[in-house]
Amino acid sequence: MSANPFANAMAQLRDAARVIDLDPRLVTALQTPQRILAVGIPVRMDDGSMKVFSGYRVQHNDARGPFKGGIRYHQQTNLNEVKALAFWMTIKCAVVGIPYGGGKGGVTVNPKELSMGELERLSRGWVQAMYRHLGPWQDVPAPDVYTTPQIMAWMTDEYSKLSGQWTPAAFTGKPIAVGGSAGREYATGQGGFYILEALLAKLKKSPRRMTVAVQGFGNVGYFTAKLLHDAGYKVVALSDSHGGILDLRKQGMDPEHVMATKRERGMIGGMYCVGTVCDAKNYRAITNDQLLALPVDILVPAALENAITEKNAGRVKAKLILEMANGAVTPEADIKLFRRKITVVPDILANAGGVTGSYFEWTQNLQGVHWTEKEVLSKLKPTMIRSFNEVWDMAAKHRVSLRQGAFILGIDRIAEAMKLRGRV
Ligand code: NAD
Repeated sequence: MSANPFANAMAQLRDAARVIDLDPRLVTALQTPQRILAVGIPVRMDDGSMKVFSGYRVQHNDARGPFKGGIRYHQQTNLNEVKALAFWMTIKCAVVGIPYGGGKGGVTVNPKELSMGELERLSRGWVQAMYRHLGPWQDVPAPDVYTTPQIMAWMTDEYSKLSGQWTPAAFTGKPIAVGGSAGREYATGQGGFYILEALLAKLKKSPRRMTVAVQGFGNVGYFTAKLLHDAGYKVVALSDSHGGILDLRKQGMDPEHVMATKRERGMIGGMYCVGTVCDAKNYRAITNDQLLALPVDILVPAALENAITEKNAGRVKAKLILEMANGAVTPEADIKLFRRKITVVPDILANAGGVTGSYFEWTQNLQGVHWTEKEVLSKLKPTMIRSFNEVWDMAAKHRVSLRQGAFILGIDRIAEAMKLRGRV
């Protein structure tokens, strides 16, 4: 088993390449990022000291359009992780048919230990270090784990200062007041929701009253849980990096309420509280490992990669996994789950609503217009449903998993662009 996300990503590539007998030159091209930027970012800390943080940008492939992908701030972020995430972005953008290549960025830092001022200086420092290789037609970053719309606002501002003109299309995931798009904040969760509904319709399963466990309670986990709850699914377990909460009665929790409690108390775990009154009888604290093994209908990993591995795949009881976090299911786990007839909706499809929302934001910025939330959703939904159907059909055609189906679909499109551009 490999904990290295890039090794896992390459195993997925080889799996799909084998099915379609992919030209080895294309395999090599997809194994090799076009550019890797690794920088030291000096940041003046509040106490007057200086710290240097390691920052990365991996520009994996831009055959279909500018590099596109988020920036992650995490203490465990390293080059292998960023390379994997960049590779998945290339495939993902092709799966949903938006005119982007793939890239990803990161900084090895625990952002919870930084003040707002330090976070701002680090974010501006990242842009200063990468500036020459960024831009609306070159590479367009966005938020990822522990990066926020505020961070995108600082980065856009820094880029605009360096370029001498306001350039909102250089970053996506910005606050609305500085060129953000309606709906972008929850687009990843909304896209996953559309995909899940399309899948359940295909499987002729009634979605209402299904039980769901969601791991991760940030942008993706929170909005996915909220949308599912609002649509009548029973969200019986939620977790964050500290642990989780289980609704013993299986009646379903309101994620909005849990978020309010988390804000007040700093963590989810333990009890379901209203004000100072906490219900310890019907709600129980659970670990993230326990959450993944709950007897629920749908499991939604929405935190980090390598959540479901060879070790714990045998304990998964859900019949359906909506992989909202990138790389949450390892290739070894995939094999076990496939054998056990557990359907995995792969990350490169399930969470592609985020980059699709980013594409809409970039499109609006380039045109200097602002679409309403209704307009955004009216474009997001058909994109997700069409992509789901294309992945489903591809998987059926080759008698492979949805992940392999999605890979084949994406690789076909990237290969066509690479051939047309004379790159292979
Ligand atoms: P986020 O920073 O908003 O939230 C991350 C959440 O995961 C937090 O609740 C955190 O407490 C939790 N977490 C961290 N470590 C954990 C652990 N070990 N166990 C359980 N929970 C843990 O990040 P996000 O934007 O929601 O990203 C989550 C995943 O979704 C990542 O894989 C990311 O790459 C992917 N993704 C994000 C977007 C987007 O638009 N933000 C789009 C596509 C994919």
